Amino acid sequence: MSEPSRPARTAVVLGGSHAGMLAARALAGLADRVVVVERDVLPDGPAPRKGLPQARHAHMLWSGGVRAVEELLPGATEALLAAGARRAPVTTDMVVMGARGWFRRWPESHHVILAGRDLLDATIRDLVLADDRIELLRGVEVLGLAGDAGAVTGVRVRAGEGAGSAPGADSDAGGEAGPGAEWVVPAGLVVDATGRGSRAGRWLTELGLPAVERREVDSGLAYASRLFRAPEQARSGYPVVNVQPDPRAGGPGRAGFLLPIEDGHWIVTLNGTRGGEPSTDDADFVRFAREELRHPVIGELLERAEPVSGVAYTRATVNRRHFYERMPAWPENLTVLGDALAAYNPLYGHGLAVAAQSAVILRDTVRRRGWGSAGLSRRVQKAVARPVSTAWDLAVGQDVFCPGATENGPTVRDRLVAAYVGRLMLTATGNGRIARRVTDVTSLERGPEVLLTPSVLLAAALGPWKPALTGPPLTADELKRAGLE
Ligand SMILES: Cc1cc2nc3c(=O)[nH]c(=O)nc-3n(C[C@H](O)[C@H](O)[C@H](O)COP(=O)(O)OP(=O)(O)OC[C@H]3O[C@@H](n4cnc5c(N)ncnc54)[C@H](O)[C@@H]3O)c2cc1C
Repeated sequence: MSEPSRPARTAVVLGGSHAGMLAARALAGLADRVVVVERDVLPDGPAPRKGLPQARHAHMLWSGGVRAVEELLPGATEALLAAGARRAPVTTDMVVMGARGWFRRWPESHHVILAGRDLLDATIRDLVLADDRIELLRGVEVLGLAGDAGAVTGVRVRAGEGAGSAPGADSDAGGEAGPGAEWVVPAGLVVDATGRGSRAGRWLTELGLPAVERREVDSGLAYASRLFRAPEQARSGYPVVNVQPDPRAGGPGRAGFLLPIEDGHWIVTLNGTRGGEPSTDDADFVRFAREELRHPVIGELLERAEPVSGVAYTRATVNRRHFYERMPAWPENLTVLGDALAAYNPLYGHGLAVAAQSAVILRDTVRRRGWGSAGLSRRVQKAVARPVSTAWDLAVGQDVFCPGATENGPTVRDRLVAAYVGRLMLTATGNGRIARRVTDVTSLERGPEVLLTPSVLLAAALGPWKPALTGPPLTADELKRAGLE
């Protein structure tokens, strides 16, 4: 059998953010050519851009995601650290008030990467685009899919302002690539990674496929974030500080977290569910942290730090999942990944890690089944549902308790699971082994089944074996460095 012609071995990735860049990397070497189509003219280096508004909010990448990124891009962690990102051991460098009290700082079991989102994206983007098998069409908007219900054959795109100067912008356009020009990029595999605003569901119905099943669970969470310069002595090696709500208290849940990132900055996010939202007002930020959270420690730290940005505000926090893997029919050559497939309440910090794990699954499935094999993209879609389900269940399992989040409220099963998780969280405050097991799951390194082994069930029944802490476990040195002594 002859090899497929060039378009048939071209992969086209829609969206050049976290999921898109990692998907492109996953397919380099499997496709002859990988083309990333991105509506923004991506900046050189870490800089804000229109298509990534969430970059003004705190982002952390859990170790389950770090491992997946490393697998695709060996050396990525080193590159991130060299660019200024921090690697924080979990729970060693974490001061966390959970629903059931302060967690102790146990020896490292997992880690997180802490960085401004623009720095994270720019570093990964540079590594991916250094591969000359990957081309970027920047400033080019995806309009829809070409093909029919049986198979996708390409992508309809339109050049925006700035696209004309983009390398490769006219490679498939027959030479006409000025602003407004439209053409079809032929493809043997299309990956939709256009984020929360993905129109894949609509594109599929335009091809004659049925509407996708979709679920939304909206905690009503509003997010306010602000960048601070840490006090001089606290600009390196400071722990993460996180105050979480206690759902048993009733009423709106309010939380805050302070992440130490590059350049001696703290990025701080305050959030609240319906009726407990933080304000958009710069002047109210520190007050909210000090007076509205269950403990004032974040506010006290901020009183000694210098704000270097205004408040960024978003309500784009609804959990939204498209069950593409359940569609009765699925066209060849199309895969949907990242937030385009499922977006989670950002409070749990899982979107980046799931996107990275999904890109690894994409690579492995194409490798194993063979480029262009029948039913390949359906297999990918079913396989990526696994990490998606883990993050989805973790987020939705908690958010269904927020008033108004769903039509019917929590089920009996939701209540039973929540009661067990609550007991585990209490146990984890004073039992290092259980704290590690819980973090296995929250870091997306292992599935939730590790919380159901007999020894974990027994530990949960017995509860914490160390007494509850009465305040945040900041060391005397950390208090002094932040001016809190
Ligand atoms: C406030 C907030 C805080 C968060 N915090 C965390 C966290 O701490 N940890 C974590 O893991 N996750 C976090 N997340 C989730 C994380 O931001 C997303 O999971 C992640 O960005 C998903 O990446 P993506 O590439 O799928 O989508 P996106 O990053 O949204 O990128 C989509 C890309 O597609 C492009 N695009 C869109 N439409 C088109 C089109 N028609 N044509 C061409 N290009 C197009 C956009 O310009 C953009 O570049 C947070 C999210 C929010 C909202």
